[in-house]
Amino acid sequence: MATQYRADHVGSFLRPPELLEARKNAGKDPHRLRSLEDLHIQHVLAKQKELGFEFVTDGELRRRNFMSDFTDAVEGFDMGDAVARNWKAGDSEAAPVSSVTGIVAKKLRLTKPLTGHELPFLKANSTVAIKMTLPSATQFPAISFKSGVTDKVYRDHSALLWDIVEIMKSDLAKLSSDGVNYIQIDAPRYSYYMDPKWREWIRQELRTDPDAAFDEAIRADNACFKAARRPGVTLAIHLCRGNNRSHWYAEGGYDGIAEKMFAALDVDRFLLEYDDKRSGTFAPLRFIPKGKTVVLGLVSSKLPQMEDPDVLVKRIEEAARYVPMENLALSPQCGFASTAEGNLITEDSQWAKLKLVVDTACRVWGGASSAGA
Ligand SMILES: [Zn+2]
Repeated sequence: MATQYRADHVGSFLRPPELLEARKNAGKDPHRLRSLEDLHIQHVLAKQKELGFEFVTDGELRRRNFMSDFTDAVEGFDMGDAVARNWKAGDSEAAPVSSVTGIVAKKLRLTKPLTGHELPFLKANSTVAIKMTLPSATQFPAISFKSGVTDKVYRDHSALLWDIVEIMKSDLAKLSSDGVNYIQIDAPRYSYYMDPKWREWIRQELRTDPDAAFDEAIRADNACFKAARRPGVTLAIHLCRGNNRSHWYAEGGYDGIAEKMFAALDVDRFLLEYDDKRSGTFAPLRFIPKGKTVVLGLVSSKLPQMEDPDVLVKRIEEAARYVPMENLALSPQCGFASTAEGNLITEDSQWAKLKLVVDTACRVWGGASSAGA
């Protein structure tokens, strides 16, 4: 049975400057990096507990970005190379986006457990439920497959995708058998199927029908969820439109993909970006199957301005026209630091926004969480 966490967050937190500095010098002094990671993870665990979250993450503080557990544990990436992307800053201050992944240049091979450097410390230092995040296997084929390089090893995007699924499955099965309570797969790539610009890009660049790619993405993620499925473990997928130094790369509502996606993905919770107009309306939520939870990402992790609690409550009530109130929850729309450099807001704003999530969730659903989903 899945647990109903009313106040949720996507997982990553801002890294303090000394941790970023230590990461830069990790080659010279790996012990300093490790001890600062431990120290600051203790801090974010304490903050989450103090704010009243009923689960904790380690803030992804040991990662360079939300996908680096995979690229660090799997041999075969050329990290010096990257496929260009179109990031947009919207109204926020411009900042260079962080490079997140390299190119697959060799047959992939797992060399160590993906999350093996994260979970033991988290288990030893938390007294509440643990959430772990991993990137969707669907992340990599679109951004790590380079013609003339990757196709010497993998016939096509599909061949690469299913090799990654096999690697992911082994780690996900281990996480759920190791006592992790809440597993979330981060899958911003679904935005490609709802944004006409990216659908065209799939046709032109990947030479694939976007609807066929969408179907295959669901099959791939479901294969991963099946490996992680275990009684008492809550499974979730997080969807957004890009989050890198407050930038984004896609736009459009869930309308075009909602009916198929919500019905087919075998998860307990959907963490959906809903912090601005780029995410469209709540109407696609009418396709959420009975009993599944929608975590409304109404609080922005990209912008420093605080949301008005009354507006948040109104928006939750609006969403409840499509999904029963008992199947809704609240969170920021994405992490605060999908890349180590983080979004363009302060740590104080981050914690204030997380407090707002908890306080609003208490106001709407009451203080105690209820089991059952
Ligand atoms: Zn996101």
